[in-house]
Amino acid sequence: MPVPKAELHLHIEGTLEPELAFALAARNGIDLPYANAAELRAAYAFEDLQSFLNLYYELMAVLRTEQDFADLAAAYLTRAAAQGVRHAEIFFDPQAHTSRGVALGTVVEGLWRVLGDSERTHGVSTQLILCFLRDESAESAMQTLRSAEPYLDRIAGVGLDSAEVGHPPAKFREVYAAAAELGLHRVAHAGEEGPPAYITEALDVLGVQRIDHGLRCMEDPALVERLVRERIPLTLCPLSNVRLRTVDTLDRHPLPAMLDAGLMCTVNSDDPAYFGGYAGDNFDAVRKVLALNEEQLRDLARNSFNAAFLEHDEPRRARYLAEVEAYAFPSPPTTSGPA
Ligand SMILES: [Zn+2]
Repeated sequence: MPVPKAELHLHIEGTLEPELAFALAARNGIDLPYANAAELRAAYAFEDLQSFLNLYYELMAVLRTEQDFADLAAAYLTRAAAQGVRHAEIFFDPQAHTSRGVALGTVVEGLWRVLGDSERTHGVSTQLILCFLRDESAESAMQTLRSAEPYLDRIAGVGLDSAEVGHPPAKFREVYAAAAELGLHRVAHAGEEGPPAYITEALDVLGVQRIDHGLRCMEDPALVERLVRERIPLTLCPLSNVRLRTVDTLDRHPLPAMLDAGLMCTVNSDDPAYFGGYAGDNFDAVRKVLALNEEQLRDLARNSFNAAFLEHDEPRRARYLAEVEAYAFPSPPTTSGPA
């Protein structure tokens, strides 16, 4: 069994595997412009964030009914549980659905049909984080938050995702202030393709409690020092960074340097159907390619639970952390010799 971990950076729409996309398309009578799942999988070769987003939004057309969203959530939980995920804080993008005529209630009710009982069915506790598309207007984000108010008992926080460059965090100052008034947690993507200044702005203007990605903080030593001092969690997604060319190759990923600097790093999967792996696959990849040792891997797992929004259930956090301490890592996959 892989090391127990929390997944804190996971877009549920990004878990849509080609096979499920075809099954949902058939059920909803939608024609996809690909002959089959293999051909669609071959289209998952991106050059950057924007080329990924184009396909990502195109495929969302297959998600129409509550049952579609329930099936999507169930497929994710099955994979996540097999990779050691014990707790998941799951992003969803309401505007990507409401803009094509699917009501926010359909999305939330469908996801919750599965997530509401996920601990019993899959052994994974879950929360939902509503994300605003940053390339849409601030007014649209505010409308989305207002229309989510009937569902706030199922939503733990708000986030900010999609195309980063040119859409600084401060654009969403008012909607984050409104979210804070509603008692919601706040996170934001920052410093993935955008500059380190976006990280500072997300902290100071939006009041975020975690930074999603945050990779480019390494360009600003004073910012690194601040993130360490304030114990701000960073939700890194190594395989995503390689697929979107945020880093050239995995062996050049700054994760080891970030751990050495004392940053509170976590390892997550982002959009696993598109980027080559789920949470455990990301752990395996950094272990193998970046030669992380057991103590570093255990730290990443500890950090994931310490960074989780579990303050309402500290005994649960303590149980998860105890599982991490008790975990015995198998021999590294690179070790040769007698089995
Ligand atoms: Zn993301």
